[in-house]
Amino acid sequence: MPQIQIEDVSISYGSPDAKTTFKAVVGANLAIEPGEFVTIVGPSGCGKSTLLSAIAGLVPYDGRLTINGAAVTGPGPDRAIVFQDASLLPWRTVHGNVRFGLEMQRKPRKFIRERAEHFIEMVGLNAFARYYPGQLSGGMRQRVNIARALAADPQVLLMDEPFGALDAQTREIMGGELLRIWEAERKTAIFVTHDIEEAIFLADRVVVMGRNPGRIKDVIRIDLPRRRT
Ligand code: ADP
Ligand code: ADP
Repeated sequence: MPQIQIEDVSISYGSPDAKTTFKAVVGANLAIEPGEFVTIVGPSGCGKSTLLSAIAGLVPYDGRLTINGAAVTGPGPDRAIVFQDASLLPWRTVHGNVRFGLEMQRKPRKFIRERAEHFIEMVGLNAFARYYPGQLSGGMRQRVNIARALAADPQVLLMDEPFGALDAQTREIMGGELLRIWEAERKTAIFVTHDIEEAIFLADRVVVMGRNPGRIKDVIRIDLPRRRT
């Protein structure tokens, strides 16, 4: 059974009086298997972020959207989301940021420390664990964000243009790093981008969203041999 099922999902933005509504996503259908790496690609404004936010439980939707058979009715520890702009806590170090989600889950201190160290090492930031976000480059801040998301042990990793603010070369490096981490962790991953090359490079499967409005036009199965690193 698919882990994530999206059936006839529509998402509208509107004023509270509902006099003006704008349909950002109309009748989307998509099923995602556990452990799949799916990229959603399409032009700016076609509804990719909106659909991802609905999966994250951050925006209400019409239709059916389930994770492991249960309807999405809000955010939950089974999902972690990484945004383009690293939403790191500026007054906490790298280590403190990665610990944050686990502290919210009230895990034991030793467990938290060891898990944070493990994921900081995985994203290659050992030497920077005591740095503050303001002392890091954009690429490094996104590494911290990915480490923080993974440390919280979600079943599904949602990423909304996580490398969108980085230069082309750093994007490529980060893409390779992300795949290496994903190979080790095998989380279900949904990655939104407007960059078709990035979408193809990363994905097991590329989902294309079109305009008029936010419809998933086609689902293309791309069977590439997995790169082994
Ligand atoms: P994408 O991620 O593909 O660039 P978005 O999901 O961000 O697209 O946006 C889809 C459409 O919904 C766009 O036309 C955008 O202007 C609109 N939209 C996005 N967020 C809001 C919001 N909070 N309120 C009103 N309209 C929004
Ligand atoms: P950006 O290109 O956005 O500035 P990068 O993540 O490529 O960010 O980092 C820029 C610099 O930070 C690198 O040249 C390197 O000196 C340092 N750096 C980044 N990642 C690591 C790492 N894993 N280990 C050690 N140093 C790193």
